[in-house]
Amino acid sequence: MIRTRFAPSPTGFLHVGGLRTALYAYLFAKKNQGNFLLRIEDTDKTREVAGGTQNIINTLHWADMFFDEGPEIDGPYGPYTQSQRLELYQKHAQQLIAAGHAYYCFCSAERLDAVRQAQIAAKQPPAYDRLCRKLSPEEVQIKLATSEKQVIRMKVPLTGSITFHDIIRNDVSIGYNVVDDQVIIKSDGFPTYHLAVVVDDHYMHISHVIRGEEWLPSTPKHLLLYQYFGWQAPQFAHLPLLLNPDRSKLSKRQGDVAVEDYRAKGYLKEALINFIAFLGWNPGDTREIFSLKELEQEFSLERVGSAGAVFNIEKLNWLNHQHIMRKSDEEVLSMVKPLMEQAGWDIPDDTYCLRIIKVLKERLVVLPDFITYGDYFFNAPSIFDETAVTKHWHHYTPEHIALFVERVKELTSWDVLSLEAALKATLEQTGIKMGALMAPLRITLTGFAQGVSVYELMEILGKTESLKRIAYGVETLTKQTR
Ligand code: GLU
Repeated sequence: MIRTRFAPSPTGFLHVGGLRTALYAYLFAKKNQGNFLLRIEDTDKTREVAGGTQNIINTLHWADMFFDEGPEIDGPYGPYTQSQRLELYQKHAQQLIAAGHAYYCFCSAERLDAVRQAQIAAKQPPAYDRLCRKLSPEEVQIKLATSEKQVIRMKVPLTGSITFHDIIRNDVSIGYNVVDDQVIIKSDGFPTYHLAVVVDDHYMHISHVIRGEEWLPSTPKHLLLYQYFGWQAPQFAHLPLLLNPDRSKLSKRQGDVAVEDYRAKGYLKEALINFIAFLGWNPGDTREIFSLKELEQEFSLERVGSAGAVFNIEKLNWLNHQHIMRKSDEEVLSMVKPLMEQAGWDIPDDTYCLRIIKVLKERLVVLPDFITYGDYFFNAPSIFDETAVTKHWHHYTPEHIALFVERVKELTSWDVLSLEAALKATLEQTGIKMGALMAPLRITLTGFAQGVSVYELMEILGKTESLKRIAYGVETLTKQTR
């Protein structure tokens, strides 16, 4: 059975790269009728942020990625939080010591630092010099009785190399000369990531480890541990790096990296998931719009490339618009309503709102665009765009508008066609051009010279509101331009 896991550390927010790792692990499991697990890797207490775990769970749920086993829901191989499994790691570290695959290290932080400085000065890669690996069992016993602090390190072969298969990178070879005698139990008794990840992936029956490229250099350590324990290792798939458009590593400096930032900016979960799915994967044809369910059908690790994937915000914007267009007007309304409330608008009935969504939907890139473009449907303008006024408002304008108003006052039916006919008749009567009437009218109705069709606007606003706005606009602008 395919079993994958997402194993984040609860260090605050969920990075978009983390969401991509979670998504690929989730999709691979779903595609193969497997299980997807969430495991919280909280063994580094210094990096933990309160509420971090909850934030990860909420974000996965927001994206509709539900895990089959994990914190809160538990499962057959729990607990799924590493800080609740400390005894297991201790036991396994002792097992490694007994078998001669690990050793106690008593070196002080000062000594380690001095060794590192000397190596840097000699232009050697910094690594532990393995001093304690040479201690005799008697020396170890004496030191254990007298020393305050010690760690446990794994033994890495001094020569040779390891070759392993990665689903995305094929055969990878790494020489042991670049692999350090990794600390596996820290002086506080907590395991490091390397021991905990191997023990947990084994006991949780993980079949495929899907994770970021940054973990590739650690894989030899993990494979050695599998060997030392006599366990079969899972398969590995290391996902490509995420890059900024300038091909530097995706960083906060060049834009948002937290999933919640995109959520707050009004991106749809469907769009973000669709976008993130394409950061490394593609379906092999020209299709670009996918729902999570469709991705669950299509995804394969074989179609994930090893080249860095560029995080292109324009593509995300385009996808967001596409996914908005896929939603019904009612769905869009339920998404923008909280934003309207936030903006402090009096929200009229749904029928009114839905008419506006119909008009504006195709202009929406992100949801808050509805507030920007939709404002004048809900709030009469009190100020008028100066550039527009200078350009379109002339001393004869009020007179022309008055003729138009006279006509529309008589209308028995207030709709686009009748309003259009009234405007055209006014143009014939006065001999002025369309724009000379349309633009000033729109200014009185919205405050701006550009926007949706004046007829549509007046139909939606209704007779009373339209005439009220026109009257106020004419009065104000006549005074202003006198
Ligand atoms: N806890 C590691 C992280 O935060 C997990 C890496 C892995 O998936 O093995 O990325």
